[in-house]
Amino acid sequence: MIQPDRPDDEHDFALRPKCIADMVGQRDVIEVLRIAIDAASKRDEPLGHILFDGPPGLGKTTFATCIPREMGVTVQMASGPALKAPKDIIPYLTNLEDRSVLFVDEIHRLPKAVEEYLYTAMEDFRIDIVLGEGVSARTLNLQLKPFTLIGATTRAGMLSGPLRDRFQLREHLGFYSLAELTEIIDRNAQKLNVEIEPDASAEISRRSRGTPRVANNRLLWVRDYAMSKADGKVSTAIVHHAMKMTGIDPLGLDRQDRRYIETLIRVFSGGPAGIEAIAHTMNVASDTLVDEVEPFLLRSELIIRTSRGRCTTPKAYEHLKITPAAADETDDDLPLFSES
Ligand code: ADP
Repeated sequence: MIQPDRPDDEHDFALRPKCIADMVGQRDVIEVLRIAIDAASKRDEPLGHILFDGPPGLGKTTFATCIPREMGVTVQMASGPALKAPKDIIPYLTNLEDRSVLFVDEIHRLPKAVEEYLYTAMEDFRIDIVLGEGVSARTLNLQLKPFTLIGATTRAGMLSGPLRDRFQLREHLGFYSLAELTEIIDRNAQKLNVEIEPDASAEISRRSRGTPRVANNRLLWVRDYAMSKADGKVSTAIVHHAMKMTGIDPLGLDRQDRRYIETLIRVFSGGPAGIEAIAHTMNVASDTLVDEVEPFLLRSELIIRTSRGRCTTPKAYEHLKITPAAADETDDDLPLFSES
């Protein structure tokens, strides 16, 4: 695949909004944050702890970097899976400055021991440190600087109740509208010094799955294509050619997405089929399908999940221009819907 999943660090840094005013969309979340930031600044207190949840690439890290800038305080960045034991988080906590921010990405992946260690830090700005070992061990109670923990998660449901309840604000980030993504693409084209036609940015946004990170990836690839194959100017025709080359179709589906639907239609007569059976047929790990392929297909209403397995919808046949088999049309044994 030519496109990277994430833009490299240099592009990520260049394109990431520097302050909340530069962020597009998420108006409800921004309104709440502005009030909280304003009130905390007036009281000269740290902002209450904040939890952001939502699918990848929607702006959780961006909020976590913009909020400290608005408050005029420093930020430390940490990641749940990297904090394997309480000792790993101690340096972050002892390095905190007054009202500074500690950002923990993928906070649902914090081990239980680290999570519990955070409780007193979050609630009373205090931690216990054990010095020495065995009979000579003693506990030092350390007062921390008042700080704000910003947690980000793609799986809010996996967070334990006690941790979730310690966040004063919990904000869900939703997908972006076409108009918002088009605005992001136009602004970023300007940052990259790329000339882009208005229709071309709308065309990229239609193929960006409602996700700014995907929009940035698509824009970077289209820019490279335009520079290599044409005069560098991005027109709608250039977008079409560039997207075709990487297998991104007008709905934003990639080759793997279409292979999933084709497998379900051709091998399993449109379903219902179990995820393991689909994964074996495609020779792909079932986790990959569940985490990376299915969410967008479900959201696009191209497949549904039933208690008996995955099924395609009429829209999937229409999109892939496949005529449903006659057997499927006469099948009156309709799948049962379930929450699974
Ligand atoms: P997450 O942490 O939710 O996975 P990020 O905050 O890293 O997502 O966002 C990915 C990229 O998308 C950022 O580098 C930024 O360029 C862009 N982005 C995200 N949210 C916005 C927004 N509201 N306005 C403009 N660009 C955004």
